[in-house]
Amino acid sequence: MAAKPFASSTDLGEKTETLEVLADGVYALTAEGDPNVGAIEGEDFLVAFEARATPVAARDWLDKLREHTDKPVKYLVLSHYHAVRVLGASAFDVEVIIAHDNTWKLIKERGKQDWDSEFGRMPRLFREPDTIPGLTWPEVTFSDSMTIDLGGARGKLVLQYCGRGHTAGDIVAWLPRQKVLFAGDLVEAEAALYTGDAFHTDWSTGTLDRVKAFGAEALVGGRGAVPRGREAVDAAIEQTRSFLLVMREKVGAVHARGGSLKEAFEATHQALAPKFGAWPIFEHCLPFDVQRVWDELDGIDWPRIWTAERDREVWDELQG
Ligand SMILES: [Zn+2]
Repeated sequence: MAAKPFASSTDLGEKTETLEVLADGVYALTAEGDPNVGAIEGEDFLVAFEARATPVAARDWLDKLREHTDKPVKYLVLSHYHAVRVLGASAFDVEVIIAHDNTWKLIKERGKQDWDSEFGRMPRLFREPDTIPGLTWPEVTFSDSMTIDLGGARGKLVLQYCGRGHTAGDIVAWLPRQKVLFAGDLVEAEAALYTGDAFHTDWSTGTLDRVKAFGAEALVGGRGAVPRGREAVDAAIEQTRSFLLVMREKVGAVHARGGSLKEAFEATHQALAPKFGAWPIFEHCLPFDVQRVWDELDGIDWPRIWTAERDREVWDELQG
């Protein structure tokens, strides 16, 4: 069998982007499994959620948003540190960039390596990469929660840390009045999970429990369509949890019997492929995911840094 192409390096087909209005002044842009972004209207300003991989890609999203509102973007909220979510930040020309304390720490610790790693894995998302001015630095960070008053009768936007999950610093954005939750990469709707920097036990238990407890009526996940209605929202959360639990179980069993990483990868692939194999980025993510579960079982609490070189080593060992 021919070796699989590295990560998403040969995924070059353009995706169709759809701007959805989820409630009055609440927007999401989904893109057939590419990273989602969102925006929330205040009385006289906008809050943007996620920034995309480059300023050019971000500007394209802003152009679509401008068909609905011309209010200035005052706040940019970053759900976590991953390059494809943050490096387009300069396009928004915002007053304040907001993220979790740990996101700032992770950018400082590994921002540059993560940029190189993600560029190699998903080159298509990095449209005109030379327009990226440098790393994105959040100016306001918090450890638990933060609230933005949207003004008028629009209610408030609650930014909340729900525990360690997809990374050490994921936050969600919750609109209690409109019951819309922007969950970042903590929840994926019919897209595979990337867990290479994750905390599988925390994520699959308390963190997802907290996400579910909002009782959202619409949820914008990191990738995939927007589930609407309580049942569809809960299904997306539980599907995310089941992906994590299967990985913990399969990798855990091989690790416990003293098997190899490759065996753990094959067992996990076999278990997940029937349900999740056709979803976006499944083959891309799985080697990195299994390696991280393995590391956790080895007692490595803080995720090791992915570099372009380490990406290739793990890929060649597991998918090669
Ligand atoms: Zn991510």
